Amino acid sequence: MKEALEDLRRKADGEIDSAKTGGEFLDIKTRYLGRKGLLTDLLRGLKDAAPEDKPLLGKLSNDIKKSLLEKIERALEDIESGDRDKALREARIDVTLPGRGLRYGKVHPVTRVEGEICDIFATLGFSVVEGPEVELTYYNFEALNIPEDHPARDIHDTFYVTDNIVLRTHTSPVQIRTMEQQPPPVRILSPGKVYRPDSDISHTPMFHQVEGLLVDKGITFGDLKGVLTFFLRQMFGSGTQLRFRPSFFPFTEPSAEVDIQCVMCKGSGCRVCGQSGWIEILGSGMVDPEVFKTVHYDTEEISGFAFGLGVERIAMLKYGISDIRLFFENDRRFLEQF
Ligand SMILES: [Zn+2]
Repeated sequence: MKEALEDLRRKADGEIDSAKTGGEFLDIKTRYLGRKGLLTDLLRGLKDAAPEDKPLLGKLSNDIKKSLLEKIERALEDIESGDRDKALREARIDVTLPGRGLRYGKVHPVTRVEGEICDIFATLGFSVVEGPEVELTYYNFEALNIPEDHPARDIHDTFYVTDNIVLRTHTSPVQIRTMEQQPPPVRILSPGKVYRPDSDISHTPMFHQVEGLLVDKGITFGDLKGVLTFFLRQMFGSGTQLRFRPSFFPFTEPSAEVDIQCVMCKGSGCRVCGQSGWIEILGSGMVDPEVFKTVHYDTEEISGFAFGLGVERIAMLKYGISDIRLFFENDRRFLEQF
């Protein structure tokens, strides 16, 4: 019997040494020390032992029971505290780490400059009017005194949808639509997208224009010069030098292109201005009486001027951007600089 007890202790010790999980230790406890366990089973044979051996065998079996219990309890405690440490380690938050910042969107440079232009003209009483980007050829051409055989009507300069519908090549149709609907005086600004089949470092097939129209009694070329000078000095600084060059547009007569002194070299000549010291910034002129006739305005009574400018071009000069295509590539590294 003594050997059987020692044998059981060795086997149990071996199992305890190789057990790993809480479940395995509990299993060992039940299998050896439970009511129907191996040790309990063995002790039932104690009553058949010789009387003089009984005290010794009783003590031995108690020792075995006590030591097995202790080992198992200790192992279970270790496992439990190990689990707790691990859980605590995993749940730990490093409060010294920097937070994850929110990324804010920004106003696109073209939208921003378009807004600035509108704001400046708003101080002069111009209101913003918008019109369709898909436009009838009548509003895009005929009504603006651009006859059928004019180069601007050539297929290479215009996206045609059908024979008489185009993607507007300028925002001037808005001027006609406005004048059709209201008698003079008119003082409007029409910003928006326009389309021409060009693509290179200074052209994109879609770009933004702002055009203005002022019609009233007694409007002269002096008014045109005054308004545009005010605008350009607001936009590029009060010391900005301007020059008005005679030009030609089908819908204005006389017409003038307006240059500002180069913002890069201040007039001494550089790559941006082609060494001329001047940069062409907008087109303008007195509205051709033919245009007024199509909207039934009395050309004896009223006169007016119109102008147009490219928003991207202004933004490029203002921010020193050399390639217009950057505006539309949606590269965040570019857009986040504004
Ligand atoms: Zn220059």
